[in-house]
Order: sequence, then structure tokens, then C-alpha cells
Amino acid sequence: MTINQIIKRAFERLKKENKLLTPDLYMEAFCLEAKTAGIVIEDCNQVEKFIKKLDISLQNELKQYRVKTLNELITFFIAKLNRLKPAECSAQNSALSTLLKRVLQTISSLHNAELSALSTKSIKDLDLASDAEQIEKIKDEWINFLTSYDDSFFDRLKPLGRVNKNDIKATIENLSIHSRADSMPDELQNLALLFVASFAPSIASSVNEELAKISDELRKNPQSLSSETMIHSIKRAIQLRINLDKHHIKKMLASLDGVLKRLSVQLLSLIDRTDNSGNEIAKIKLNLKNMELHYSDDFKSAHQRLYSIATSLEEETLLLGTELKEHNNVVSEMEKKIKDLEKELESAKKASREDALTKLYNKRGLDEFLEIREGEFKRYEKPYSIIFFDIDYFKKVNDTYGHDAGDLILKGFAQVFKGIARNVDIVGRYGGEEFMAILSETDHNGTIIFAEKVRKKLEVSRFLYAGQRIQVTISAGIGFREEHPSMQAVLKSADEKLYKAKNSGRNQIVS
Ligand code: GH3
Ligand code: MG
Ligand code: MG
Repeated sequence: MTINQIIKRAFERLKKENKLLTPDLYMEAFCLEAKTAGIVIEDCNQVEKFIKKLDISLQNELKQYRVKTLNELITFFIAKLNRLKPAECSAQNSALSTLLKRVLQTISSLHNAELSALSTKSIKDLDLASDAEQIEKIKDEWINFLTSYDDSFFDRLKPLGRVNKNDIKATIENLSIHSRADSMPDELQNLALLFVASFAPSIASSVNEELAKISDELRKNPQSLSSETMIHSIKRAIQLRINLDKHHIKKMLASLDGVLKRLSVQLLSLIDRTDNSGNEIAKIKLNLKNMELHYSDDFKSAHQRLYSIATSLEEETLLLGTELKEHNNVVSEMEKKIKDLEKELESAKKASREDALTKLYNKRGLDEFLEIREGEFKRYEKPYSIIFFDIDYFKKVNDTYGHDAGDLILKGFAQVFKGIARNVDIVGRYGGEEFMAILSETDHNGTIIFAEKVRKKLEVSRFLYAGQRIQVTISAGIGFREEHPSMQAVLKSADEKLYKAKNSGRNQIVS
């Protein structure tokens, strides 16, 4: 078939279907005729081509509308676009989400634990939900809740009044205690009996007359429980019961206090005289046994307990007494030995730091103090100085007057040395005829003054030995801690200065 024949048939179809000759209708008719004739016209397949490119959900929607022409397709989209306003949509979405949250919050505050938990969970889940699938999950949870929710628990309120499941508030407000009392006389009876039982004092042995009257009335007429007067009476009865118990406890405690006081006085005096404890406890026991008691059974059992305590105390003290006597001698012997040992230890400790001849600190004692001063210098920057003294030509003294004379001079010098030193200064015999002073909190000048004082004092002293007056002189070298990097360096320097003093003619100080 030729194109002209198809055009002709298209005109005939329009005429037959009573349609106007508009471009769109003509196109539709032309394409139909072409299809019937089995001729493929590119322009006729345009609509299908466009539809295939669309999202599957739109394709399905279009199928419903049976869109065939380009015109219909565009009309469909125009209608859709006119309905779709993105800005409005998102505003509406967020308003709906807020509304949903408010509703959930309201639900969560309703008085149902299960419901409240589910709504709180949903609020949380909604905040995290980012796609339709997650929202679907929340929806499922609510559907589960709705389908499994059972409100038959309301029925349990029915005996108490009219139940309206749609209005819990009104239901609860309508519940009536009076109606309960009317409908359940048995329970009221039990309640009345319970009150009566509670009026009986638990400690005091007698019941007050007023209490008995109220109890009687309640037993006879349980319905009176709901009357104002009875409620007032019950309050009063409770107070009365408490007062009776209080009064009784007070009396019992006063009596118990008396017993305890006597017991404690006796125990105290017993502790003071421990030697006699066995006899004393036996006496306490006797006293307790003879004590007169008037009160209730409870009190008697408390007394029984005290009595048995006294009994076991007596037995234990007897045992302890014998054992103590046996051990006492051993203990006092050991104490004496310990004291002797302590004394020995003390003198040994002293001897280890003391020079036997001069009674000054020996080298070990001096070394200990040096370490202490060095520690103070390092930690607090507290300065100290060292002086080495050495008696001049001491060998000659020994040679001339004998060793004993030498010893006497060493002792005498020690006295001079100690006499000049202050309490805070440490003086000692470093060895042989060599002495040391450690001065702290003393400046250069002070140190030199101290050394000079010792030197001058010795210069004018005369030691008396076997009717002879012996005179000696002394040289000294000084080291100041601040001027050296270490304690060893100070010692070395003081020693060098002493050597210098000796070489420069002796009987002098070099600093
Ligand atoms: P310098 O002026 O150079 O110090 O001469 P010095 O003779 O004092 O020195 P040296 O070191 O040659 O002799 C020290 C003497 O001191 C030797 C020793 O016999 C004597 N000596 C040391 N210890 C004692 C002691 O405990 N008793 C007595 N009597 N003498 C002692
Ligand atoms: Mg010497
Ligand atoms: Mg000497």
C-alpha cells in the first residue's frame, strides 16, 4: 500500500468516526491506518519510545490512562506537574512529622506502660528513619500493637462502678467505695476484724477500756467503717495503742537501765582489781540471780540472757586467771631482758659514732653529718663549710713528753674545740691529731672567725702534764661548699688549704 492510500484511508476513518480534521486526530488516524497496513512509520512510535524511558511506576500509571498520543502524554505530565509543588511538599512533610511526634508524645504519657514504651521507641526510631522501609517497620510495630491489644483488664473494675473503656478518667471518678462496701459485706467484716486485731497493744499487757469499746462497736457493725465518726474513732484508737506501748516500754527500759547500771559499776571495779576477778564475777552472778523482776516475759528473758553472760564470764575469767599467773613471770623476765638489750643497743649505737679518747664524734659520725648537710644543700641550697684542724709538730710532743702526754693534749684540745662550737656546729676527731668542724648557716667571715678563735685559744693554752706545762699550736684549712661542685671537692680543697697553712709556717688558717 502506498502512503497516498494510507492518507486517503485516514481521512475516511475520521469521517466515519465523525471526528474533526485536527492535526492530532489526523495523526492518530494516519498512524492507525499505517499500522493496519503493516507499515512502520517512525513518528507513530514516538509515544511508546518516550514512555519506555520513564520510571516503571510512571509507566504503570500511564497504562491506566491509556495514553496513546504525544498530546495525551504531555497533558498527563502537565496535570501531574501542576499537582506537584516541591517546596510545599517538604513543608507539609515536616509539619506532618512534627505532628506525628506530638501525637506519640501524648500517647507515651497515657497511663499504659506498653503503649508508652512503644511510643517512646517510635519517636526515637522516627528520628533515625531515613527511608520508607524504616518508616514501614515503625508502622508494622503499631499494627502489631493494635491487633494484639487487650483491654479486658478494665472488666476488673466493673464491680466498683460503671466502666467506660473510652474514658478512663470518668471511669475512675465514678468508682465508689460505698458501693464496694454494699456489694461486699464479707470483705468489710474482715477489714473491721483486722482493725480490731491491730488495736491490741503488742507490748503492754492490758487493753484500755476505750479501745475495747471501739473494738466492740466495729465487730458488731462493720458497715460503720465508712462513717466519719468511726474513722475518727479508729484514728484515736491507733494513737491510744501507740501511747500504751510507749508507756510500757518506758517502764521496762527504766528497770533494765537500773540492772545494766549496777552490772557495769561492778564490772568496772572488777577490771580495776583483776587479780580477784573470779570471786567478783561470782558475786555479780549472785546479785543478778537475786534481783527482783516484775515485768513481762520479754523482760525476764532479757534478764536470763544477762545472767548467762555473767556465768560464762565467770568461767572464762577463772581460766584466764590461772593462765595469766603462769605467763606473768615469763613476761616480766622477757621485759627486763628487752630493756637491757635496748640499753646495750643504745650505747653501741653511740659508741659507733663517738671517739673513745676525746668523746667527740669520730670519722663515722662526721661522715654521717656531712651526708646530712650535703642533702640539705642539694634540696634547700643551705650552705655549709668544712674546717680541717691539725696539731702542729704533734709527733715531737709524743717524742718529748710521751704518748700519754699526747693523749692528754688531744683530750684537752677536744674540750677547747667543743667549748667554742655552737650547738648547731658539728665538731669531731677525723683521725690521729686531725679534727674537723662542719658549720652550717655561717658565712665566709663567720667560718674564719670560728677557726681563728680555736687557733688563738690553743695558742694561749698550757696543758699540765707531770708538772710540766706543754704548749701546742694548730693549723687549719677551710672549704666552702658553694665554691665547689661536690662534697668531695670541698674536702679536698680544705685538705689542700691545710697543707698550705703547714707549708706557710703553721699556727695559721688558710681559706
Ligand atoms: P705536722 O705539723 O706536719 O702536722 O707534724 P706532725 O708531727 O703533727 O705530723 P705527723 O703526721 O708527722 O705526726 C702525727 C703524729 O700524731 C704521729 C702520731 O704518733 C701522733 N698521734 C696520732 N694519733 C695519736 C694518739 O691517739 N695519741 C697520741 N699520743 N699521738 C697520736
Ligand atoms: Mg697530721
Ligand atoms: Mg700534725
